[in-house]
Amino acid sequence: MVRVGGNGRALDTWDAIYDVVVVGYGYAGAIAAIEASDSGSDVLVLEKMPQPGGISICSGGNVRTAEDAELAFAYLKETCAGTTPDDVLQALAEGMTEVVGYFERLASVNGAKLDSRLAAGNYPFPGLDTFGYVSIGEVPGFDAAASYPHVSSYLPAHRAAGIRLFKVIEDNIAQRDISVWLESPALRLLTGPDEEVCGLVVGTKHGELRVKARQGVVLASGGFEASAEIQHQHWQEKPVLLAAFRGSTGDGIRMAQELGADLWHMWNYHGTYGFKHPDPDYPYGIRLKRLPDWIPGRPPRSDVKMPWILVDQKGRRFMNEYPPYLQDTAYRPMALYDPMTQSYPRIPAYLLIDQEAHGTFPLCSPTFNDRELSFEYSPESLKDLEDRIVRRANSLADLAAKLGVEEAILGETLNRWNASCEAAEDVDFGRPPPSMMKVATPPFYYAEVWPICSNTHGGPVHNARQQVLNAFKEPIPRLYAAGELGGVFGHLYLAGGNMAECFVGGWTAGREAAGLEPLQ
Ligand SMILES: Cc1cc2nc3c(=O)[nH]c(=O)nc-3n(C[C@H](O)[C@H](O)[C@H](O)COP(=O)(O)OP(=O)(O)OC[C@H]3O[C@@H](n4cnc5c(N)ncnc54)[C@H](O)[C@@H]3O)c2cc1C
Repeated sequence: MVRVGGNGRALDTWDAIYDVVVVGYGYAGAIAAIEASDSGSDVLVLEKMPQPGGISICSGGNVRTAEDAELAFAYLKETCAGTTPDDVLQALAEGMTEVVGYFERLASVNGAKLDSRLAAGNYPFPGLDTFGYVSIGEVPGFDAAASYPHVSSYLPAHRAAGIRLFKVIEDNIAQRDISVWLESPALRLLTGPDEEVCGLVVGTKHGELRVKARQGVVLASGGFEASAEIQHQHWQEKPVLLAAFRGSTGDGIRMAQELGADLWHMWNYHGTYGFKHPDPDYPYGIRLKRLPDWIPGRPPRSDVKMPWILVDQKGRRFMNEYPPYLQDTAYRPMALYDPMTQSYPRIPAYLLIDQEAHGTFPLCSPTFNDRELSFEYSPESLKDLEDRIVRRANSLADLAAKLGVEEAILGETLNRWNASCEAAEDVDFGRPPPSMMKVATPPFYYAEVWPICSNTHGGPVHNARQQVLNAFKEPIPRLYAAGELGGVFGHLYLAGGNMAECFVGGWTAGREAAGLEPLQ
C-alpha cells in the first residue's frame, strides 16, 4: 500500500534524500545552505534558473550593520509601524550587530577585502545613527565582467559590490560539500501524515523528481514582482515594471500557501519611478541613477541637484520628485486611481527637463541577471539609450502637444515651479530646496516614467526563528523562510535591510533546520 502524505501525495519513493533542502540560490539561500552544512547537515540547494545569483547579484551589495542592537530595534520598530512583531525585529537587530564578523569569516575564503562604514538610516526615527554598511570592497584577481557576463549591475563595474559579494558566497558554497541543482525549480512541498514538511517535488530536465528533506526545507526563493498575477491581486497601481530579475515569480509564496501559511507585507515593495526600455522585448524597467538619500529634519546636501519635475497626464505636478529615500517610496504617489475616468492619471507620468539641464545627469542605468540578454552597456551605449528614451520638444506648445496636455495648464505648472525655484521653496510638495532646478529654457526634454519595483517584501509570515507560520500563528513543522520572501518591512524600508535579512534570516533558518531531529 502506498503511504500518502498530508497533501495527498505518495511518500514511499524518493529520487534523492538530503537533510536540508534550500529553495533558491540568492544570498539568503546560500547563507542558509552554508550554515546548515556547517552544522553537519547534508544540504541541497535548488535553483530554477540556469544561473545562480537571483536578484542578489544585481544589488549594490550593501548589507546593513548596527552598533547597538537596542537602538537598531527601536528604529526597525518605527520603520515597520506595527506590521511585524517585536521579537522578529529584535532578532534582526541583534543579527545586524554580528554581520561584520560573519563577513570576515566568509571573506577568508578568497582573501576578499571588506568595506565597513557608518551610515545613518533613512528616516528620522530613534536609533537612526547606530547603523552602518558592510560590503565587499575587493576580491583579489576577480574580474566581474568576465565571470558574470550575464549580470549588469546598476553600479559601475568598479563599484559592483553585489557581484563581488556573490563571488565570495559562491566560493564558500564550493568549499563545502553542498549539492547545487541548477534549472531545477521546486514545484510543491510534500508533507508527511503528521503534516510535517518532508520533501519537495522538483522539476528537472529528466522530469519531476521527489526529493526528501529529512530535517527541513528553507524557502529562499526571493520576491514576486515578476508575477503579473500576484502583482494584480495585491497592488493598486498598474502596470509596475520589474527592475532586474524575471525569476522573482513568487513560487515560494504559493508553496507555503498550500500548507496554510499566512502572508504579510504583500502591498509594500521597494520601488521608485523610472523608464521603459525602447526595445519592447527588453523585460526590465530602468531605474533612475541613485541620488543620495536625505533625512527629513537634517539639512539636505547642497551639492545634489535634481534637474527634473514630474507632471501627470493633465500636465500638473503631483509629488515631491525627491522624497527622502528615492528608491523606497517614490512610486507611491503614482498609485492614484481616478474613478471618474477609470484610469491611472499618473501612469505613465512625464519627466520634464530643459535645455540648461539636459545632459547634466545620466538618467538610465539598466540592471539584470539574465542569460537571455545580450546587451552590453558602455558609457556610449548608455548615452544612446538615454537619447532614445528622452525626447525633445522645441517649445512649450510643442511639449504640450507631444504630452497631449493643455498648453495653458502646462505653462502654469512650469511658471509655478520656476517661481518656487527662485524662492527656494516648494510650497506644494516640500522638495528639498538645494535640489530644485528650473525647467524654463527651451528646447524641453521629456520622458515617460513608470512605477518600478526593485524588489518585494511580502510573502509567508515567519517568527524570530524563521519558521513559517500559519494563519493562527502556529509554525508549519520543518518549514523555514529567509531573505525577501516574507521580509519584515511592512511600512517603510531601511536601505541595506533586505540583505541584512538574507544574512540574519539565512543563518538562522539554516541553523534551525539543521538542528532538527531527522525524519526516518
Ligand atoms: C538594483 C538593486 C539593488 C539593490 N541593492 C541592495 C543593497 O545594496 N542592499 C540591500 O539590502 N538590498 C538591495 N537590493 C535588494 C536585495 O538585492 C534583495 O532583496 C535580496 O538580494 C534578495 O535576496 P534573496 O536571496 O531573498 O532573493 P534572490 O536573490 O532573488 O534569490 C532567490 C532565488 O530563488 C530562485 N527561485 C525562485 N523560485 C524558485 C523555485 N521554485 N525553485 C528554485 N529556485 C527558485 C530565483 O531564481 C533566485 O535565484 C537591491 C535590489 C535591486 C534590484
